[in-house]
Amino acid sequence: MVVYAFDVGETLVDESRLWLRYAHQIGVPPLTFIGVLGAAIAEGRDQRDVFQHFDVDLDRFEANLAWRNRPEDVILPDDFYPDVIPTLETLQRVGHRVVVAGNQNKRTSHALDAMNLPVDLIRGAEQWGARKPTRRFFRRLIREAAVPPGDIVYVGDRVDHDILPALDLGIRAVLIRRGPWGHVHASWPDAARADAVIGSLRALL
Ligand SMILES: [Mg+2]
Repeated sequence: MVVYAFDVGETLVDESRLWLRYAHQIGVPPLTFIGVLGAAIAEGRDQRDVFQHFDVDLDRFEANLAWRNRPEDVILPDDFYPDVIPTLETLQRVGHRVVVAGNQNKRTSHALDAMNLPVDLIRGAEQWGARKPTRRFFRRLIREAAVPPGDIVYVGDRVDHDILPALDLGIRAVLIRRGPWGHVHASWPDAARADAVIGSLRALL
């Protein structure tokens, strides 16, 4: 039995709809917003910088979204990449445990909980009080997985937030090359440290 643990954004979820929605909400043309995001990713900067670039305070922006409480401002069932449900179902069926553990906030975790996904556990940074890429986040994952770190496979799209900190604690790490981070990070030298680089979750099977 292996515990497969998954990042959320761009590993399970195609965030295109959400990022274009943010661009619309802050009144920036979509190509401009996505281009500036791409530059931040290429330079290894935080996505917070993208909002700052357009004079938007991300904490206030997120607080406003939470207050409005519209389901379309968080993940919707149609946002999942098409390989997600079949792969997670198969992993469970053959006897593995499936965990979703990302930097998502409570609202997103609750939205995921309500979707009846084929997973054993859903946990987010806000629930754990620890964010990636801290060791605390991954130590918490090891504790909740209740298996030795070498029996956990963490799957994510970011070398800096997912792959390196997982490997540091003896967790196996798989980089998925999709989404803007995945495509950019796959060419970083440290990507070679991942146990595997895959293009689809189906490759896990
Ligand atoms: Mg991600």
